[in-house]
Amino acid sequence: MSIEVKDINKRFGNFVALNNVSLNFPAGELTALLGPSGCGKTTLLRIIAGLESPDAGQVLLDGDDASARHVRERQVGFVFQHYALFKHMTVFENIAFGLRVKPRAQRPSEAQIRDKVTSLLELVQLDWLADRYPPQLSGGQRQRIALARALAVEPRVLLLDEPFGALDAKVRKELRRWLRRLHDELHVTSIFVTHDQEEALEVADQIVLMNKGNVEQIGSPGEVYNHPASPFVYGFLGNVNLFRGRVHEGVLEAGGVTFDAPDHAQAQDEKGIGYVRPHDLEVDRYAPGAEGIVAQLRRSHAIGPLAQLELERNDNAELIEAVISNERFAQLNLKDGETLVVRPRRLHVFVDKFVDNAASAEVARNKDAR
Ligand code: ATP
Repeated sequence: MSIEVKDINKRFGNFVALNNVSLNFPAGELTALLGPSGCGKTTLLRIIAGLESPDAGQVLLDGDDASARHVRERQVGFVFQHYALFKHMTVFENIAFGLRVKPRAQRPSEAQIRDKVTSLLELVQLDWLADRYPPQLSGGQRQRIALARALAVEPRVLLLDEPFGALDAKVRKELRRWLRRLHDELHVTSIFVTHDQEEALEVADQIVLMNKGNVEQIGSPGEVYNHPASPFVYGFLGNVNLFRGRVHEGVLEAGGVTFDAPDHAQAQDEKGIGYVRPHDLEVDRYAPGAEGIVAQLRRSHAIGPLAQLELERNDNAELIEAVISNERFAQLNLKDGETLVVRPRRLHVFVDKFVDNAASAEVARNKDAR
């Protein structure tokens, strides 16, 4: 089932939780709603489910206005961050629950329920846990059972609100791969709320980046990561170095170094920031006359295939983070305290109106990462 939301507005008192949000969730795809805490992700999910009403706007399910349809009629399956399994029921009975409470005319027979629950337990690869009670399961197992329970009633839409948020990093990683495989098998239209950019980039077909009740960008993981539409998206989707300066006729001048900014050929001495991912920086030992930004190597950390370098600029003491291959690191034979020169291989320049938003994206991401 496809989902469309049109011009959704939602306030809580004076606070604008959703500001004119319009989005399409294509049938059979897995979309991640990604953004910092409080940006409105859960509110949007609850509106789609029918658990919350918008102040204005429409939710269309397969093109039909859903406003008159009750939660139950929307055929939505939910999985929340905090396991909502019934503690006093076995795993089997938890999954069977939605089938047993159907009106008599639609209720499957006992044999059909048994078959259905067994096949769902196989699907989530936990058939050996059917007789256990929820407190006897690990967090990851409980979330897989919660998903099996949501799928039992054959929802047309699956809404997942930070389903792995309470689990440790390793289990989260395993479960998101597992969820992706499961989705490839079932193709239920799914919306997945997360504030973890890595999780969204790895799992989703489509990512919706939200910030303060607004949609900042929609696109595939590759599109939003490689072509961020705003400084907020750049800052939110990964580590980034900012080179602040002024843009004039297609050239950014920052810290005495000039960078091409072909998107801003018309700019006339405007404030601008060059955004560079750590792996898009070239690093060399400093030699007189070398072009680039001069910085001291403060700390280096080389484990696995990559070396992470923390540098401090000579001109303004700002920190720069660079990531180079371990091979290159060994070849340069760098020592902490050495003077280096860095040059961006790739940078994206944003000017003027965006510049003030840049800091807020960094703050939002850092706050969430803590
Ligand atoms: P998180 O990642 O922290 O769950 P979120 O992006 O899902 O955040 P929402 O839960 O949608 O954010 O909340 C958006 C904003 O609306 C928040 O500032 C929240 O405090 C506010 N809000 C949500 N529900 C209510 C409510 N029932 N009454 C008042 N304010 C609310």
